[in-house]
Amino acid sequence: MTNLVTDVAETVEANPYSAAISYDGNEQTYEDFWERAGQFAQALASCGIGEGDRVGIYLPNLPQFVTAFYGTLRAGGIIVPMNPQYKAREIRHMLGDSGAKAVVSLADLVPNVLEVQDNTDVEQIVSVGADVDGATAFDDFLAEETKETVDRANDDVAVQPYTSGTTGTPKGVLLTHHNLAFTTRANASVPPGGFQVSDRLIGTLPLFHIYGMSVVMNGAMYSGGTYYPVPKWDSSTVMDQLQDDEITIMFAVPAMFNDMINHPDAAEYEFEALRFANSGGSSLPFEVLERFEELWGVQLNEGYGLTETSPVTHANTNDARRKGSIGQPLEGVDAKIVDDNFEEVTRVERGPIVEEEADLQDITGELVICGPNVMKGYYGLLEANEEAFTESDGKRWFHTGDIGYWDENNFFYIVDREKHMIITGGYNVYPHEVEELLFEHKDVIDAAVVGVPDERRGETVKAFIVPTPNADATPEDIKQYCLTNLAEYKHPRQVEFVQELPRTTTGKVQKFELRNEEE
Ligand code: AMP
Repeated sequence: MTNLVTDVAETVEANPYSAAISYDGNEQTYEDFWERAGQFAQALASCGIGEGDRVGIYLPNLPQFVTAFYGTLRAGGIIVPMNPQYKAREIRHMLGDSGAKAVVSLADLVPNVLEVQDNTDVEQIVSVGADVDGATAFDDFLAEETKETVDRANDDVAVQPYTSGTTGTPKGVLLTHHNLAFTTRANASVPPGGFQVSDRLIGTLPLFHIYGMSVVMNGAMYSGGTYYPVPKWDSSTVMDQLQDDEITIMFAVPAMFNDMINHPDAAEYEFEALRFANSGGSSLPFEVLERFEELWGVQLNEGYGLTETSPVTHANTNDARRKGSIGQPLEGVDAKIVDDNFEEVTRVERGPIVEEEADLQDITGELVICGPNVMKGYYGLLEANEEAFTESDGKRWFHTGDIGYWDENNFFYIVDREKHMIITGGYNVYPHEVEELLFEHKDVIDAAVVGVPDERRGETVKAFIVPTPNADATPEDIKQYCLTNLAEYKHPRQVEFVQELPRTTTGKVQKFELRNEEE
């Protein structure tokens, strides 16, 4: 049986003395890393935690995350990653729902775990960073001996992340050993020549989210490269690190690339070692892509995926890329665009299409996915599972909830999230189109467009703008600019300047918060 753990065990055997993790000037070799993961597995086993048991990881990106992650897998357990920004109320749902028996927590966050412990099955808390009451310090928890890896079947669950929760109650996503192994292998072959032992991967994407976990951390451990965990995003620190540590591969979200191009000293940085850059998690504004490439001469490829697809389904590559597209499906992944009757929507000849809404309506539909990366299902949610899948042609298709179109060369284009569409006076407006235009304005650093209630039109378009420090444009100027460049019904009738947009740590604008501000 081969899976992610056996893949990584082979890498460890082939490269015992290569650097697996580099953090704060210290390096852990593959041999050290694997031994620590085995000691963690043994410690879990000593607490009676083993096959099929859940272990919460409530940490920022730190080397201990990697140890706890692989240690839990080696013990046969299932990881429940939790955003370290979450408060007690939010982790109560995840710990309670998953039935986690242990939690590895940043010392500062242990009080949150203690607050909810009585409502959960958590028996063991392990703290990282300091000794705190009610928890065992990480290094004290590690056993003296290492545990033999427990064999797990391909179909067994390996991680149970909770979806980003920008809307509704977070659902536990069951990702199997096979899901993870497939995505890690497929994604690691996207850069030219694939990930190499000599690669240095910057870990700016949070590990509690599947993008940072699967693509960057697992990608590095699978290929023998070095993983550089970054606990907190800060453009200056990361740009220094990209330069000084000669980082070769960067996966990040558009908000991070946007911060980089807007850095006051952007032009002084040189990322000579950087050989591959990829953006995912939300739509990459055209302006950000162009400016990044102009500044640093590295192709910035967009990719796409969801927690439910482990996450990658589509990627542009250095050889096959269309700007404005999410790329082609990974090899082995099926994708198509379907209408409300689950019929395939006709492909356009070549994208991207910039047309009036009437045309978009004819060429767009929902993106559905089938492949070895698609989750087993949501944990304990029968109804959500029924809604998420459609059986057709003997295949089980996952509904992404994203609206897009495809072209004859199998490049896919996302227009927007289904639920973000604004209906104003009977017309459909996709916020993404208006946001792209706003990004082109010289006085705009960041922008988000939402629908707000309107008596006459049902909803009306509202833009939230983060202006540049020396912007001269007024909200009225922005409205005029949109009116000049877009069909009248699409232009924002309301424009508000703000200091920053509410974003999740994975860069998604929390649009419900912007809409709530209206209520
Ligand atoms: P998550 O489950 O947090 O990974 O979020 C998945 C969602 O992120 C998708 O359903 C999309 O709405 C969005 N997303 C990811 N990548 C892209 C992209 N390249 N363009 C547009 N939306 C994206």
